[in-house]
Amino acid sequence: MLTEKDLIKQINEAGLANSSLCLHSAYRSFGALEEGPQTVINAFQKSGCTLVCPAFYYESQAFPVKQNYQNNGVDYQAVNEMRTVSFTGSIDQIEACMGVIPKQLLKQEGTLRTYHPSNSFAVLGPDAQALIADQSELNVYSIYKNIYQNPRPAYIVLAGVDFTSCTPIHFAEEVAGRRLFRRWAVSNGQVTETEEGSCSNGFEKLREQIQNIESVITLGNGEARIYEFHVFIDAVAKIIVENPDVTHCEDDNCIRCNDMALGGRVVEETLLT
Ligand SMILES: [Zn+2]
Repeated sequence: MLTEKDLIKQINEAGLANSSLCLHSAYRSFGALEEGPQTVINAFQKSGCTLVCPAFYYESQAFPVKQNYQNNGVDYQAVNEMRTVSFTGSIDQIEACMGVIPKQLLKQEGTLRTYHPSNSFAVLGPDAQALIADQSELNVYSIYKNIYQNPRPAYIVLAGVDFTSCTPIHFAEEVAGRRLFRRWAVSNGQVTETEEGSCSNGFEKLREQIQNIESVITLGNGEARIYEFHVFIDAVAKIIVENPDVTHCEDDNCIRCNDMALGGRVVEETLLT
């Protein structure tokens, strides 16, 4: 069984100490750890890292309020009213599929959370306050923008998951010039307009084109893929610009992928009805 000390040693050997770290993980990939997911959080915290994890909560998503955008990844005729739960920021409001590490991170003293009702992020570490600057429901990837604009070391770590769970790729889509879709969600009892990422089911196809910037490290009892954040975003954005279809999933009829390949939401708020 690995201890916090073992993990800190691995983090140092991988060169991840004192970095901003976007962790996407399936906890089982770490194997048996002394204190479970808490060991992971403690090890990164004691290594001076600022940990960034998605803490999404889909239950708060609401149906489109009106047909007010073109090329928005929605077939408005086919949308049914969705059952929604108001997002309050409670630590219980996180999808199980986010994994146990983000769930545990929300409980940790000092963790900050962006207030986006459906796509919030949990952040812990010395740069947490700076990284949540400029957040808003219509600026879903503000944290990634802040990391990108800062020259400090930053990494994406994929532990037991692939690019379909790699949220920063949606930010690379933005850097490539795509306009993110608008959705709606309920936040503190109010329906609010939000910005969200698109379909990620086809993202793993990007891997073969960026093998040269991938490192595989030992993390816990398993392996993790790591990428330097700035290098990764620039490389993925360039691939998307050159071949917009590269992110498309296997479903030819996927409206989100089809609209995103065309550049995403049309900026003018054109009323269709
Ligand atoms: Zn798709």
